[in-house]
Amino acid sequence: NPVQRNKPAWLRVKAPVSREYHATRQVVREHRLHTVCEEAACPNIGECWAKKHATMMIMGDICTRACTFCNVATGKPGALDPFEPYRVGEAVKKLGLQHVVITSVDRDDLEDGGAEHFAKVIGAIREATPTTTIEILTPDFLRKEGALEVVVAAKPDVFNHNLETVPRLYPTVRPGARYFHSLRLLDRVKQLDPTIFTKSGLMVGLGEDKSEVQQVMDDLRSAEVDFLTIGQYLQPTPKHHVVDRFITPEEFKAYETAAFAKGFLLVSASPLTRSSYHADEDFARLRAA
Ligand code: SF4
Ligand code: SF4
Repeated sequence: NPVQRNKPAWLRVKAPVSREYHATRQVVREHRLHTVCEEAACPNIGECWAKKHATMMIMGDICTRACTFCNVATGKPGALDPFEPYRVGEAVKKLGLQHVVITSVDRDDLEDGGAEHFAKVIGAIREATPTTTIEILTPDFLRKEGALEVVVAAKPDVFNHNLETVPRLYPTVRPGARYFHSLRLLDRVKQLDPTIFTKSGLMVGLGEDKSEVQQVMDDLRSAEVDFLTIGQYLQPTPKHHVVDRFITPEEFKAYETAAFAKGFLLVSASPLTRSSYHADEDFARLRAA
């Protein structure tokens, strides 16, 4: 596989083989759910699923966008499944999660971008397991008037929306998205409900400069974003955006130090960091502090 060739040692992870991994997989299958762990071919699946930390992907497995880093299929999605919120709630309860991350494909085809469905999923999890904290990782609801307000009113504990990359690379990495729209979305969440923690993330190794990453951090702090994740971009298939460079663990450490200095409350910056990586443990630590 040309995509995997020359991967540095710090990115090589063990195959998922534990009994707990299979138990998580079983719950996901039983409730007919999609997970971003599988759809994105995430390298951490062995570790995360061994701890039952699966990130559900709602509203189907076909996306209306075609980001060049993303392994999710692009096309015309099917109708929303009205029973999905219930199944997500039951699965979260069965897995016994203290903290769950819910994400979705982008649904530009729906009038509200899927906002109402997101709110229903949050409601169903609250009903099934009231003490579980809920983190959502949402699309940008571009040109979906009023959608964001619906999601915020459902009161997730953490609202995450990833900027993914620096503004200069948007046309090649995130066509169809707008940097300042995404930034404004995060700012607006905080204005609408300051009790919700906001979070965003970047992939590095796509051709960005360090100074551009620093600028994005400053932009995020201007929007009062609380948590930040930075991870190495990995090319899922030869058709996807190529890896420009593997960022070293030391460089990640420097990003982490800089981010804390800029005032982020939680920072995860490492080669294998993904938006949802260790989100459960990190949030629990913050709440205990
Ligand atoms: Fe799933 Fe996130 Fe863990 Fe990857 S890091 S396996 S996407 S929970
Ligand atoms: Fe992938 Fe999200 Fe882009 Fe869709 S909008 S292609 S799911 S990153």
